[in-house]
Amino acid sequence: MATKARLFVISGPAGTGKGTLVARIRDRRPNLDLSVSATTRKPREGERDGVAYYFLSEDEFTRRVEAGDFLEWDGHFDKRYGTLRSEVDARLEAGHSVILEIDVNGALNVKRVCPDAVLVFIAPPSLEVLEARLRGRGTETEEQIALRLGRVEMEMAKAAQYDEVVVNDDLETAVDELDAIMDKYETDERN
Ligand code: ADP
Ligand code: 5GP
Repeated sequence: MATKARLFVISGPAGTGKGTLVARIRDRRPNLDLSVSATTRKPREGERDGVAYYFLSEDEFTRRVEAGDFLEWDGHFDKRYGTLRSEVDARLEAGHSVILEIDVNGALNVKRVCPDAVLVFIAPPSLEVLEARLRGRGTETEEQIALRLGRVEMEMAKAAQYDEVVVNDDLETAVDELDAIMDKYETDERN
């Protein structure tokens, strides 16, 4: 059966395991490319420019918005984040599926401009587990954790608009489910 490169958009609450799942699925699917987003926030310890994000100044971000370089962009926590078209278009044309790890509003905006995009929501098994993972990761201050937890209800409410939902309880099971979803859309009979 013919396969088709697809744009997969992964989102879900902070701490639900998106980064972990994306790293695991990329090990399994060498043809899957990760889009690196641009942001105006400062790099955290260990984050490299062009790997974690493209770290842009406010002026540079504005210039690129005005140049039409973004597929979508949004503001969070006083900073801007966006998907560059240059991260997506050429890879799809070269036959590589692309994964975007972006927030729920960004994901729904992508679906508006790219109806073919496949939206996958990564849900935590429970709010308690989510909070424990977020704290256990140890990368945010208490204030930042509270801000992230404050968004969870809004984020979970948007899961119904996604094409697929994966509950990240047991990691291996979740990776298998995501792998099967990607196979399904890449070999869709409408391709
Ligand atoms: P996100 O990218 O969604 O913010 P992370 O991938 O950073 O989340 O995961 C948050 C924390 O939870 C990390 O410490 C990660 O190791 C852990 N984690 C992720 N998935 C699981 C899982 N299925 N079971 C237990 N811990 C997990
Ligand atoms: P962080 O600063 O913790 O890396 O990310 C903060 C938020 O920005 C997360 O919800 C993340 O999903 C979101 N984000 C990262 N990249 C993008 C992007 O390209 N577009 C949008 N809309 N959100 C993004």
